Amino acid sequence: MGTGKTALVTGGSRGIGAATARRLARDGFDVALTYAGSKDRAHAVAEEIAQTGRRGLALQADSADPDAVRDAVDRTAAEFGGLDVLVNNAGIFPNGPLEGVTVEEIDRTLGIHVRAPFVAAQAAAGHMGAGGRIITIGSNLAEHVPMKGVVLYSASKSALIGMVRGLARDLGDRGITANLVNPGPTDTDMNPADGESADTLRGFSALGRYSLPEDIAAAVAHLAGEGGRNITGTVLTVDAGTNI
Ligand code: NDP
Repeated sequence: MGTGKTALVTGGSRGIGAATARRLARDGFDVALTYAGSKDRAHAVAEEIAQTGRRGLALQADSADPDAVRDAVDRTAAEFGGLDVLVNNAGIFPNGPLEGVTVEEIDRTLGIHVRAPFVAAQAAAGHMGAGGRIITIGSNLAEHVPMKGVVLYSASKSALIGMVRGLARDLGDRGITANLVNPGPTDTDMNPADGESADTLRGFSALGRYSLPEDIAAAVAHLAGEGGRNITGTVLTVDAGTNI
C-alpha cells in the first residue's frame, strides 16, 4: 500500500542509498534518487521501485554542485507533487596521510558532505509541511577516530552533528524533524566487508561484524516513519557497538 508520501535519497544508485531507496519504497513512499556517474545502476533502482507499484525517479545531480542539488529537490517535489522525506546520503571517502590532503580535496569533500546536505535541507524545507523529515547520513568517525588518515572525512562528517541540531531548532515549529544517522563500517563499494582493513574494523566493534546497507536503511525508515514522530536533533549510531 502506498502512503501517498514522497522521498528523495541523494546517492541512491549504490550501497546505503540504494538500500534506503528500496526500503522506503517498500514502506510505501514514492522515491526519487540522485546519482553522480552510475546512470545505469540508478535507473535500475528506480525501475525496481516502479515494479513495486510506487513511483521511482532517477536524477543525475552531482552533490559537488549546489545548483544541481537544489534542482534535484525542486524536481522531485514538482514530479511527485510534494516532498515529505529528504535523505542526505551521497558521500565519498577521502583518506590518506595528512600532509597529502590538498585544498581542492578539502573543498570538494566539504562541498559534497556539508554544503550539499545544507542546500538540500534548505530547499526541501521549502516544500515540506508538518511531518516532514530530514535525515542525514554521517559517520561514526565523526565522534570517535580509532585510526589514522581520516582527518578530512571525520571533520566533514562532524559538521553534520551541528547542522541537524540547528535544523531541528529552525524547523521544529513547523513540525519538521532533522536527524543524523551515523553508520559504522558497512558492506558497500566504499568499505567492502572483505577489504584490506575489514578485519581491523570488525575488531573495533562489540558485535564483531559489519553492518549491511539494509541495517542503515532500517534506521532511516524508523526516523522516516511514524516511529520518528518525536525524534529530532539527535544522532542515531548504527555501528555494531564500535563507538561505545
Ligand atoms: P558507496 O560508495 O557504496 O555509494 C556512494 C553513493 O553516493 C553512490 O550512489 C554514489 O553515486 C553517490 N555519490 C558519491 N559522490 C556523489 C556526488 N558527488 N554526487 C552525487 N552522488 C554521489 O558508499 P556508501 O553507500 O558506503 O556510503 C553512503 C553514505 O554512508 C556516505 O555518506 C558515506 O560517507 C556514509 N558512510 C558509509 C560507511 C561505510 O562503511 N560504507 C560508514 C559510515 C558512513 P554514483 O554511483 O553515481 O557514484
